[in-house]
Amino acid sequence: MSLVAVTKSWTPEAIRPVVSAGHRLFGENRVQEAQGKWPELKALYPDIRLHLIGHLQTNKTADAVALFDAIETVDRPKLAAAIAREQERQGRQIDCFVQVNTGEELQKSGVAPADTASFVRHCHNLGLAVTGLMCIPPVDQEPVPHFALLAKLARDGDLRHLSMGMSADYAAAIEQGATYVRLGTAIFGPRKAPPATASV
Ligand SMILES: *Cc1c(COP(=O)(O)O)cnc(C)c1O
Repeated sequence: MSLVAVTKSWTPEAIRPVVSAGHRLFGENRVQEAQGKWPELKALYPDIRLHLIGHLQTNKTADAVALFDAIETVDRPKLAAAIAREQERQGRQIDCFVQVNTGEELQKSGVAPADTASFVRHCHNLGLAVTGLMCIPPVDQEPVPHFALLAKLARDGDLRHLSMGMSADYAAAIEQGATYVRLGTAIFGPRKAPPATASV
């Protein structure tokens, strides 16, 4: 089980002590914010691995493939095709996770549970290294059934990795077989509200 330290909203100064303590796996949810702080840290610590855990707009795919070591939010054919194109163009292969909308929430990204197997196959056919699934359960529901569903989908699809569990529910996620938990608040404390100029 690996811990993705989620550094969205935190400055390099806030992140540095965690790197100095030896942690090397981090998550950001926005490409542009990550570009502002991670190239320098990655140059200093080449073994840092960075996961994109937020929605990826297709027009930011080139930047995402260049900076991140894994994209956890592959959720639609157009994005999968764009990642495949960029991997080819940049001569770089990154790890991919398919995001599953386990709660089938209208406003949330991710493929429907019933479409997961065929979408993973589609991604593999395009040359994407899909090694796992990721989910964010609905905020107002007991998360365990969502973690259990993601674990079943991964088992059925022979996928090794399960990215599930955040500060509020990581213990339950680990019990259900999480191989990555994504923790922000539990490590860094509460995030401040993003500045009005924050990019999307
Ligand atoms: C912010 C974020 C996290 C971390 O959330 P905490 O509750 O602060 O641990 C995990 N996953 C995703 C996708 C996030 O956007």
